[in-house]
Amino acid sequence: MPSTNSTIAAIATAPGVAAIGIVRLSGADAIATADRVFRSKLGRGLTESSTGRITRGVVVGTDLEPIDECLVICRRAPNSYTGEDTAELHCHGSPTALAEILRAVLANGARQAEPGEFTKRAFLNGRLDLTQAEAVIDIIEAETVAVAKNAAAQLGGAIARRIDDGYGELLDIAAHFHATVDYPDEDIDDFKAGEYAFKLGQLENSLRELYDTFERGKVLKNGVAAAIIGKPNVGKSSLLNALVGFDRAIVTANPGTTRDTIEERAVFGGTLTRLIDTAGLRGTRDEAEAEGVERAIRAARDAELVIAVFDGSANLTDEDAAVLTNAKDAANAVAVVTKSDLPPVLSDKSLGDGFSAVVRVSSKTGEGLSALSDAIIAALPEFPRGRTGEIITNARQAEAVDRAAEFVHAASLALARGVTPDAALVEIESALTAIGEITGRNIREDTIERIFERFCVGK
Ligand code: GDP
Repeated sequence: MPSTNSTIAAIATAPGVAAIGIVRLSGADAIATADRVFRSKLGRGLTESSTGRITRGVVVGTDLEPIDECLVICRRAPNSYTGEDTAELHCHGSPTALAEILRAVLANGARQAEPGEFTKRAFLNGRLDLTQAEAVIDIIEAETVAVAKNAAAQLGGAIARRIDDGYGELLDIAAHFHATVDYPDEDIDDFKAGEYAFKLGQLENSLRELYDTFERGKVLKNGVAAAIIGKPNVGKSSLLNALVGFDRAIVTANPGTTRDTIEERAVFGGTLTRLIDTAGLRGTRDEAEAEGVERAIRAARDAELVIAVFDGSANLTDEDAAVLTNAKDAANAVAVVTKSDLPPVLSDKSLGDGFSAVVRVSSKTGEGLSALSDAIIAALPEFPRGRTGEIITNARQAEAVDRAAEFVHAASLALARGVTPDAALVEIESALTAIGEITGRNIREDTIERIFERFCVGK
């Protein structure tokens, strides 16, 4: 990314027509630059305004003609989101006007911000640690309230608080070990060694507990996999569309239309669910379709929930029997009898007792969808709970926590074996590095780049 001391600007609100649109600036010249495109109602310049104060006026375009009325909020370093001087121009949400205002700001010395550059500056200026910066993107992208709440608590520093004490203790232990390496007269007596072993054990447990929350974190963020299986033409794609509420999958009257798996995300009872529409299960000579069938069987095997679909307007066939077999192997399975708007032929009894519920629906009329939604909620697997904010949803953080736990474990072993202090120090310092990576105390520049590239422009 370009140098961090230039003044950056971006439209911070989503593209499209809206009530309000915000152009945001950050950097040493942010306030002076905003002032050049702004005429205050009271004639007072922005450079005189105090931190957080709202100033009303008009903003002018590149031709110096007023283009919109706006409210400007300036904040001065270091008391701002980025830790630098910032100015926010709250205008009307007109994409045309906002683009012109941004052009005027850029013509007056700012440069277009890169994705995530505001938050990257906040991190580099020590306003946020890396877990907090990553929580910002998690809140923005949250698909469920639970994810947003967990991220909000992380933005408040929940993860950092959890690991900071351990980091401090490791530092103390490392300092003592360093002293014994540098000054051979110094020694670590048995009492101290025992105390250190105890502290390392506690820290290892705490890190492993934190790492274990990632199982739930993955589900929170990526959703529970629910595979929709059934023979061709029973109404799987129609059901997916009905559940998601819009036409995502291709629906036709020709069997075998869904040759690959299609995924849609839907929220059931607050749980994000990945509904996976699979190819119809049947014997086929068509190579592409056979691969689709193979994938369907795999999807059912890997899914946490199987939604097995049967045509209620026809009797069961051998192909349905194959579906029943696949569903039986699943830990959680719900049967859906579709086309309930047609005269019923299939009986619930013929499906056996391998399902937690059998629900009759019509994707055409919407009948039974709410009952199906309840059945899905009831059948979703339970995942271990974690304290909000202390559930790791981020693979980078999870990997560093896992690595830290391993090194702390190795350090306790080294201590227990009574190896030389310098050997134990190697493990302790590796643990310190791993913990430091979680919050970004010590982290490589390319990792930082990768993290902030995921952000949107203006954040
Ligand atoms: P898939 O092959 O299992 O994915 O089945 P589709 O969703 O493509 O549906 C196959 C055919 O059944 C299409 O002609 C749909 O219009 C029809 N169909 C699907 N669901 C219903 C339903 O609830 N009622 C009626 N009457 N027809 C349906």
